[in-house]
Amino acid sequence: MTDLARLVQALPKAELHLHLEGSLEPELMFELARRNGIAIPYDSVEAIRAAYDFSNLQDFLDIYYVGMNVLVTEADFFDLTWAYLSRVHDENVRHVEVFFDPQGHTDRGIPFETVLNGISRALDKAEADWGLTSRLILCFLRHLSEEAAIETLEMAKPHLDRIHGVGLDSSELGNPPSKFQRVFEAAGALGLKRVAHAGEEGPPAYVHEALDLLKVDRIDHGNRALEDGTLVARLGREQMTLTVCPLSNLRLCGIKRLEDHPLKRMLALGLRATVNSDDPAYFGGYVNDNYIRTAAAIDLNADEIIELAKNSFRGAFLPAEEIERHLAEIDAVVEGVSWRARWAVARRCARYPFGIRGIRPAPNLYTARKPVLGAEHAGIDFDFDHGICVAGIDRSGRGAGQSGAGDPRPYSHPGHAARSGGGRFERRRAGRCQLRAGYDVRREHVRRKSHPIPVSGCQSGPRGFLQCRSDRG
Ligand SMILES: [Zn+2]
Repeated sequence: MTDLARLVQALPKAELHLHLEGSLEPELMFELARRNGIAIPYDSVEAIRAAYDFSNLQDFLDIYYVGMNVLVTEADFFDLTWAYLSRVHDENVRHVEVFFDPQGHTDRGIPFETVLNGISRALDKAEADWGLTSRLILCFLRHLSEEAAIETLEMAKPHLDRIHGVGLDSSELGNPPSKFQRVFEAAGALGLKRVAHAGEEGPPAYVHEALDLLKVDRIDHGNRALEDGTLVARLGREQMTLTVCPLSNLRLCGIKRLEDHPLKRMLALGLRATVNSDDPAYFGGYVNDNYIRTAAAIDLNADEIIELAKNSFRGAFLPAEEIERHLAEIDAVVEGVSWRARWAVARRCARYPFGIRGIRPAPNLYTARKPVLGAEHAGIDFDFDHGICVAGIDRSGRGAGQSGAGDPRPYSHPGHAARSGGGRFERRRAGRCQLRAGYDVRREHVRRKSHPIPVSGCQSGPRGFLQCRSDRG
């Protein structure tokens, strides 16, 4: 596993843009077709996969609706939902907000309750078994009429304890949000959250409409909003969550290469972008794949990946205290990751004759200023009270008294600065020193021997620890 994959796996995440019917893997499609005696126009799993060569959204939707036909009984909807939840549970996803398309089923004569009960049973079981929480969002198919959407909302009314919001999906072009203004108003009056696909293939005007006419709480996709500077400013100002789906954009030819994906630009513009899988069975990757492949293609750094994971909770329809709890957990994970990296440095540093008296991890005393991926990005901690150096540089105590902390004059060493971006530590107050460059704190060693770990930003931490971070972090 690469550092990138390890980080993505380690981060708790929420998924906010997932169509349950789009998680129907070819194997399950085949099994359900056999179980229900339903003919599908493919004779093998390979033939289905081969058909997943789309050139636009409509291409995909044509196959998506064929796949849906195999879903008939409550058990089918349970199995579909359970397969998805099991998969993302393995990927360390802690919360999901999933879409379902009741019209794709009720129009085939499947009762609304059959669909809802199967899905809900799986969602409840995931929460009971794993603490994986969820919200269910009913999507209206936008290629159908608003009247049909209103009928669907009527069917949902007795079940609002299990449905948290409404969404708008299917063929975007030619079906602007304004077509569904009344049904969204009605949904809002029922206290439901509102989201809509906008700016996936449609123009920025559709995003404006979703905000102004549908009063959405989130925008699904939103890629084309970037074409409109005023809109970008507004999305940033309002901290509107965008549920971005990179592999979907690639498969549906919204971009030619993943390297062209605007996700990094969205973050740089201050937009609250998130990473999601959309229809993972069809688009070649679940949520972690979306993070990993996109990060590799557009060179996202660890800070950006962590921000994306945090955004997934900030944009979730969860109570504020639960969001805070998830964010705190991400911070704890980031500390853990950096601690492991620093431990690796400690072991490496032990080879240097710096007179290390003892090495001990102290993750709870470290504040990660910068998330880190590799050992060379580690921070450094000193415990002056116990004479312990955590990251491989000489402990201080008396040692520091002999050099940095004991020396009232700030010390700098231009030779080291040239080699590793700094070579300076200075007295802070008796018994403590502020380390600027990360070498042995005994001056003679600093002169003669250096260690290639530049650090900066040191400050006194709790209980006599110094907290430092890498210049390269
Ligand atoms: Zn979607």
